Amino acid sequence: MEVGDDGVAVITISNPPVNALALTIFDGLKEKYAEAMRRDDVKAVVLTGDAGKFSGGFDINVFERVHRTGDGSILPETSISVAVNVIEDGKKPTVAALQGLALGGGLELALAAHARIAAPNTLLGLPELTLGVIPGSGGTQRLPRLIGLPKALELMLFSKPITSEEGNDLGLVDAVVPSDELIKASRQWALDIIERRKPWIRSLHRIDKLGSVPEVVDIIKTARQQAKQSFKNVPQHQACLDVIEEGIIHGGYHGILKESSVFKDLIFTDASKGLVHAFFSQRATSKVPNVSDIGLKPRKILKVAIIGGGLMGSGIATALILSDIYVILKEINSEYLLKGIKAIEGNVRGLVSRKKLPKGKAEKALLMVKGTLDYSDFKDVDMVIEAVVENIPLKQKIFADIEKACPPHCILASNTSTIDLNVIGEKTKSQDRIIGAHFFSPAHMMPLLEVVRTEETSAQVILDLMNVGKIIKKVPVVVGNCTGFAVNRAFFPYSQSAHLLLHLGVDLFRIDQLISNFGLPLGPFQLQDVAGYGVVVATTEIFRTSFPDRTFQSPLVGLLLKNGRNGKNNGKGYYIFEKGSKPKPDPSVLPIIEESRRTINIMPGGKPISVTDEEIIQMILFPVVNEACRVLDEGVVVRASDLDTASILGMSFPSYRGGIIFWADTIGADIIYKSLQKWSELYGNFFRPSRYLEERATRGIPLSAPAATSPAAKARL
Ligand code: NAD
Repeated sequence: MEVGDDGVAVITISNPPVNALALTIFDGLKEKYAEAMRRDDVKAVVLTGDAGKFSGGFDINVFERVHRTGDGSILPETSISVAVNVIEDGKKPTVAALQGLALGGGLELALAAHARIAAPNTLLGLPELTLGVIPGSGGTQRLPRLIGLPKALELMLFSKPITSEEGNDLGLVDAVVPSDELIKASRQWALDIIERRKPWIRSLHRIDKLGSVPEVVDIIKTARQQAKQSFKNVPQHQACLDVIEEGIIHGGYHGILKESSVFKDLIFTDASKGLVHAFFSQRATSKVPNVSDIGLKPRKILKVAIIGGGLMGSGIATALILSDIYVILKEINSEYLLKGIKAIEGNVRGLVSRKKLPKGKAEKALLMVKGTLDYSDFKDVDMVIEAVVENIPLKQKIFADIEKACPPHCILASNTSTIDLNVIGEKTKSQDRIIGAHFFSPAHMMPLLEVVRTEETSAQVILDLMNVGKIIKKVPVVVGNCTGFAVNRAFFPYSQSAHLLLHLGVDLFRIDQLISNFGLPLGPFQLQDVAGYGVVVATTEIFRTSFPDRTFQSPLVGLLLKNGRNGKNNGKGYYIFEKGSKPKPDPSVLPIIEESRRTINIMPGGKPISVTDEEIIQMILFPVVNEACRVLDEGVVVRASDLDTASILGMSFPSYRGGIIFWADTIGADIIYKSLQKWSELYGNFFRPSRYLEERATRGIPLSAPAATSPAAKARL
């Protein structure tokens, strides 16, 4: 706290890197405010944050501690004791001076201040629902009072941040001033309040923007229905609406009390545990032993060449140019090159039309790509990403060519989904700079980047690719070199178990519905329709070759193709796809399924098996857990939580379930093992439990506990 000659005390929150509100910060705030209220030379307070940021919000480590220990008493009571008593009802006015970011608990403190002045482009938001809780320091009450209910609901329920300029238009912020005038303008505003030139406003007592009770009830009712559709299986959205409604109908102070108690209940829900775990798991992915901890600095990657401008190449190029990385795109002829460039333009313009990218930025990005048909532009590139068709001799030839065409420091990356990188690089002497850059489709939208290392890939090259991943706003997860890497490998049994169940007589639309109720965006059959049967045939073959002991095969996809069905590609698969409407289950596919069932004839006694809804979900997902266990056992990922992140970002596994391994541990290795054991006796080897799962189940150890002890895992680490 610094007190100026003008009588304004500037209290600065300082807790790098984002001024998170740790327990000690609240203690410090109380102490400094007490001093400011006591001192005769202080007339008013400006509350701000250090190093260009107001505050990123409540310290999430405390949530993690509550989850780990089960002890809710370590949560501080700040809503009444700090936001109401110290700031809002303080006997001297507070002006919040916001810059950089004011999120979560940070914004809530600012809402309790008597005015908010912000620097341009400050990010303002209440993202608490993404962690399974609700704002806990009065945000649910003050935000609607400042900006009206509809907008406040949008910000809270969708955890959507806004800029200070938008905040100014909405009434959340009182003025936007240049950064270098922020403190001066805030001091003046505080003095103006004291001298009654500006109003002294306590947000919790405002009702002018709330609307009448019937209006409020109506808006909340509609929001409840929408939230039910958009946010399945989690309680925090409905709880947030309850709390807001309470405050509007019975008064702000009642709302604050209810908010506090609901917040404390929500923190103990499975959703909060899963979401907080997912948050920390994602953070942990950037720590890679012997890569990120040995003092290496990432090298600058200014120019990247992409070979192949098809679906993946054009998507990867889009992601790079949007982050100001210069791209050379190589194709086999001018027709394909033009197609590739057009696809990039389409991706970029699509983002503009969905309002995800400003038009000016789009035009600038499109100037960053240059097409070519030969290697002459490769002489000064820092990285090549090969994205041609999945063909071993072709990729080997390309790697031998680029080894010659590129400078010796250049990283040689492949976007292969399945081929062993050692095989791809076999005809080169550059094994230390060969790496997999495994993007997911559509590459400019999907957040996961698997950084695939071989035993030979150098730490510098791994670090550089991780860094590029971060620059283009992906989450890089370092994985080992095996068929399917982490995500596709762990999830290959996902569609196979669905096919197995189908052939045991279970209805396909029931399977898809149950899996979508569980929280995956598409059931396994609709996913195949969307991916296209060509991909299904190719990947099934690859996994059958690598893991012949545990692949399930049926003639079904072949029969579908023979009957003129190719999923979404031609509008007809298990579902009917029509422009402008949701895919509809197609009953005319059932005779084809019957034919496939007759051919392989695996129903016990020729009759469909009888299974509960819960068993269906387990029979689809436990085999995924089983394969994920093998991924852990082989040390393909650095830590179990990396697989959680990869499953959420690569397969859209529900984040509120924490990821595939976290979810499995909530069920228990023992239960999963016993179920798989039973099904393997009934239905065959596909379900046979892995060694890792068996060991964990027998010894009572969670699947996530670190113990990569196999020789392969040891060698990798
Ligand atoms: P695609 O068929 O859409 O595109 C491949 C492109 O490579 C074609 O345009 C082709 O003309 C071009 N090409 C072929 N030989 C070339 C050469 N010598 N020089 C320059 N260009 C050449 O294929 P895709 O779906 O984009 O897949 C590309 C790679 O990405 C494959 O290795 C695939 O396994 C992998 N991958 C695909 C997906 C997916 O969902 N499709 C996801 C992750 C990874």
